[in-house]
Amino acid sequence: MRAVVFTEPDKFELANVPDPASGADLVIVAIKATTICATDVKILHGTVPFVKFPHNPGHEFGGEIVEVGANVKGLRKGDLVGVEAHVGCGNCPRCLEGLYNLCENYGNREAGHAHIGFTVAGGLAEYCAVPAKAAHLMPEGLNANHAMFTDTLGIVLWAFERAGGVRGGETVAVVGPGALGLLAVQVAHALGAGRVIVVGIPADGNRLELASRLGADDVVIAKSDISPARSVRELTNGKGVDLVIEFAGTADAGRQSLEMARRGGRVVLAGSTSPGRELNVDLSVIVRGHLNVYGSVANPQGISRRANVLMQKGLVDVTPLITHEIALSEFSSAWKMFVGRDGDPIRILMRP
Ligand SMILES: [Zn+2]
Ligand SMILES: [Zn+2]
Repeated sequence: MRAVVFTEPDKFELANVPDPASGADLVIVAIKATTICATDVKILHGTVPFVKFPHNPGHEFGGEIVEVGANVKGLRKGDLVGVEAHVGCGNCPRCLEGLYNLCENYGNREAGHAHIGFTVAGGLAEYCAVPAKAAHLMPEGLNANHAMFTDTLGIVLWAFERAGGVRGGETVAVVGPGALGLLAVQVAHALGAGRVIVVGIPADGNRLELASRLGADDVVIAKSDISPARSVRELTNGKGVDLVIEFAGTADAGRQSLEMARRGGRVVLAGSTSPGRELNVDLSVIVRGHLNVYGSVANPQGISRRANVLMQKGLVDVTPLITHEIALSEFSSAWKMFVGRDGDPIRILMRP
């Protein structure tokens, strides 16, 4: 089959590779929609631990089952599935709580762990072998484009659930209007937010506009002379917001997120998943602010099933996030466009 192969750090090619091997607990998925994100850029640079070159990436994809392993129940040939990237070992204390994203056997395939597109072959290919427990049947009425967002939307829903979700009528700030932030704006409303403020930088122009179209009530653009936290406070009578969801991934964004929460508010820091960024925060912001601060990484087992229902109900629209479509055979132009932000791509849909 044809697949994208990261041959060594900063080098890739589209190559002919063997079809994925079947297995009793696996389904083979013919990929119908697949894409790349900023994490793939880090993977290619060789800065993501446990990824070994040569590597077949791709962790945001969906497709049709063409083969079902002997032990697999509840899935059939022809089913349209979306895929969750984290597959826990299933046996460690965290996996027993369903927290596949925190599996203590990360990277250990023999123990049963797999991180699709990271530690095992992924979905930038014609076919992918997926452990059945990570393949989620798409709800009625949704197509492969929706399936491609299964993992991503699960990550966003989990960030909210880390902080106990949204209480009806609360004010929520979403920091960082990338794909995850744009989904977060919609999830906030789906969960009952009364008001959603999206926070970005001047370079985010188009995305902030899109955030408004997707339901953001207010837009705050960081300026050199006034911190976005102050702007958010001004919009909330000086008080700050009930809940901050941060998907920007910078130290500045993390600090500002803490500074824009109301006293006793909740802050979920979910953007910066790589080491090396340090917060420089006045501790009194957290202590006197009586803040609940949560870190959130990826998504636990099965949350994407519920996330997909939000798409089915029309509460989350992923279509405007697909800004471009390029055949997988043209992967190098898609990559160039994404890395160079040429045409401001959010998600580039690729069909093998
Ligand atoms: Zn991703
Ligand atoms: Zn585990």
